[in-house]
Amino acid sequence: MHSHHNALGLASSLKPVQPVTLLRPHAARRAARFFVEKFPGRSLYAVKANPSPDLLQLLWESGVTHYDVASIAEVRLVAAMLPEATICFMHPVKAEEAIEEAYFTHGVRTFSLDTIEELEKIVRVTRGAADLNLCVRIRVSSDHSKLSLASKFGADPAEVKELLFAARQAADALGICFHVGSQAMTPAAYAEAMARVRAAIVEASVTVDIVDVGGGFPSSYPGMEPPPLEAYFEVIHNAFESLPISYSAELWCEPGRALCAEYASLLVRVERRRGDELYINDGAYGALFDAAHIGWRFPVKLVRETTSNARDLAFSFYGPTCDDLDHMAGPFMLPADVQVGDYIEIGMLGAYGCAMRTAFNGFGADMKVVAEDEPMATLYGAERREVARNNVVKL
Ligand SMILES: *Cc1c(COP(=O)(O)O)cnc(C)c1O
Repeated sequence: MHSHHNALGLASSLKPVQPVTLLRPHAARRAARFFVEKFPGRSLYAVKANPSPDLLQLLWESGVTHYDVASIAEVRLVAAMLPEATICFMHPVKAEEAIEEAYFTHGVRTFSLDTIEELEKIVRVTRGAADLNLCVRIRVSSDHSKLSLASKFGADPAEVKELLFAARQAADALGICFHVGSQAMTPAAYAEAMARVRAAIVEASVTVDIVDVGGGFPSSYPGMEPPPLEAYFEVIHNAFESLPISYSAELWCEPGRALCAEYASLLVRVERRRGDELYINDGAYGALFDAAHIGWRFPVKLVRETTSNARDLAFSFYGPTCDDLDHMAGPFMLPADVQVGDYIEIGMLGAYGCAMRTAFNGFGADMKVVAEDEPMATLYGAERREVARNNVVKL
C-alpha cells in the first residue's frame, strides 16, 4: 500500500479521479492500546464497525484478543485472519447452521441470547455442550445515544428473571450484556444500564460470571464532542464493583466505533457546484451512508496547495449515483470559494463508513493508501487534539 504524509500529498501526487480511502494505522493502534490498557476489564472489538483484514491484524497486534461478531461470515473472517483470537457470537438471533459451524468448526464458546427459544436452540445445536458462555442480553434505554439500539434486541425486564435462571442451568459461565446505543454522549448511559443489571441479578438471584457493557463508546464529530473516555471507564468500573457478583466475575466491553473511527478518512473530488450544493464522487452508497440516512456530520477539510482565505460556508453534498437519496445534508463547513476539481477530505470514516460501501451504479472504487498525519479529531489521552482545517495542530 502506498504511503503519503497527508491528504494534500496524495491529492497533489496522484490527482485521483476516484475517491481514495486514507488509512491511519497509528490512530487505530493508539485507540486499541488505550482500551487494552485503560478499560478496567476486557475489550472485544465489534467487527461490524469495520471488518477490514488490515485493521483486524493491527488490533490483534495491539493486544485486542477477543472479537464480537454477529454473522457466520464474520466468524469465518476472524477465524481465518486471527486463528488464536477468541470469537464471541453476540447476535441474539442466530441461524442454527451458524451456531453449529461456529461451535464445532471454529471453536466459538460465547453466545448471546434474549429469548428462551434462542437458548434452547443453542443448547440443542451444540448437543448440550458443557462449556458454553451464555450472555443474556437485556433491554436498556438508548436515550443518551445518537443511534438507538433499544427496540430490536434485549429481553424485557419481565422476562429476564426466567431467562437468567434457565441460562444459568445451561451455561458454564453466565453473562449479562446490553448495548446502550451507538455514540453514547454521556457516561450516565452506562450507569443507568448497570442499574438494570443490578436489578436483574438481585431479582433472579443467580451467580453471574460476566458483565458485558457492550459498545456505544463515542468518537468525536462536529457537534458531538463527548467527555473523555476515562470518565466512561470510571463510571463503568464503579458500577461493576458495586454489583452483587463474585470477585472472579469478569467485566467486558464491545467497542466498535471508538476503536476504528479515527482509522480512516476519505479523499473526494468536487465534480459540480450548484450554489451551496457540492456534487462529489462518493456518497450514500459509498462510505457516506450515515451522513445521508441519519444526518451524521463528519469533519471536512478543503485539500488545496494554497490555503483559501475565503470565509466558511455551510454546504450540502450530493453523491455520484443517479438517486435523489444520495444526498448528505451536513452542514459541511468549507471555504466559500470551493470549486469543481477541488479535493475534500472527509474525516472519521473508519467506523460505519468504509464498511458500508457498495458498488451501486458503478461507483464502487475503493483505493486505499496510508496517511501518516493525525486524524481530524482524536479522543485519545495526552495526544488528544483537534486538527484544524489547514493541518495546524491546536493543542
Ligand atoms: C454494533 C454493536 C457493537 C458496537 O457498537 P459501537 O457503538 O460501534 O461501539 C457492540 N456490540 C453489539 C452487540 C453491537 O451490535
